[in-house]
Amino acid sequence: MYPRVMINIEKFRHNVKKLKELSSLNNCTMMGVTKVFCAAKPLVEVLNEEGVEYIADSRIENLRKIETNKPLVLLRLPMISEAYLVVRHSDISLNSEIETIRALNEAAVSIGKTHKVILMVDLGDLREGIFHETELINVTKEVLTMSNIELIGIGVNLTCYGGVIPSVEILENLVKYKELIENRFSINLDIISGGNSSDIPLMLNNSIPLGINNIRLGESLVLGRETAYGETIEGLYDDVFTLEAELIELKKKPTVPPVGKIGMDAFGHKPEFVDLGTVERGIIAVGKQDVYHKGLKPLDKVTLLGSSSDHILVDFHEVPGKYKLGDILKFKLNYSSILSLMTSPYVKKVYQYGQIDEEI
Ligand SMILES: *Cc1c(COP(=O)(O)O)cnc(C)c1O
Repeated sequence: MYPRVMINIEKFRHNVKKLKELSSLNNCTMMGVTKVFCAAKPLVEVLNEEGVEYIADSRIENLRKIETNKPLVLLRLPMISEAYLVVRHSDISLNSEIETIRALNEAAVSIGKTHKVILMVDLGDLREGIFHETELINVTKEVLTMSNIELIGIGVNLTCYGGVIPSVEILENLVKYKELIENRFSINLDIISGGNSSDIPLMLNNSIPLGINNIRLGESLVLGRETAYGETIEGLYDDVFTLEAELIELKKKPTVPPVGKIGMDAFGHKPEFVDLGTVERGIIAVGKQDVYHKGLKPLDKVTLLGSSSDHILVDFHEVPGKYKLGDILKFKLNYSSILSLMTSPYVKKVYQYGQIDEEI
């Protein structure tokens, strides 16, 4: 059945193992981030088996179905409207709003649980986090008075909106905040969470500042690459996930529409064409409802011309005669295409176990 995403469990395990080792070398525990694959069970099992310390996801719907004995971490700032679900289905959440933490406390009281929070500090990326020191102090002060909330740490997120690349100096600021809070309130913060896969270049140089003791990794696990410069990490697999789709039309056609006036395509864009004459071209049965074609990297010398809801058009002029109707085309994937394919109910997910048969 097609389209299908092939997921190589042993390649994933290899990436997890290597990144777990790298985290340990930098004195960091690791949160295995599951959102890009919707917390699919076979992959969560690998995280369990490889000794990752925490399982983290941005959505409560994913966290509530995860089976693990590790602490579950909610990565996206909680919605006040989901406070009960958050305290019920996660152990730890990342937070930056005192009002939300009040709601979590109330929810935790009502079910007789203690909920742990990590306060997010914005060190310049301008996505989530407390930006001003006075606010950080005031929030900490109030959180420490809450009966059912435990403040266990602080964290930062970089290279997500502002594209700010982690540096020793930036991460040292997080350690300064840790010391400030610890001294001011005579407490210990257990978790100082230094960021995501964009920290990997620093980790490879062994230059994560002392005091940072946790890292949250998602993209690097599935794509074997760091996200500061987008480089593949040596010795890791970039093809844990691949897409297979079936050819449902294969014909010789002109590359430019031969008739009529050119209006809008199905998505309101005016198409542009390069005239290559009449070439072999085809259609595969997968489309925008599943994935955006620009996120696909063909494993053969074909070009993707465009897509509509359910079709991607393929140019075969570099490999004429090689394919026949019903054949399967294979693709490597980028982060957003893994995200959308794993989320699409129309795409089958196939897990491959056993020997890895090629070298990297
Ligand atoms: C998604 C996410 C991560 C993981 O980021 P990657 O770049 O995929 O490693 C870490 N922290 C937070 C808050 C996230 O939302």
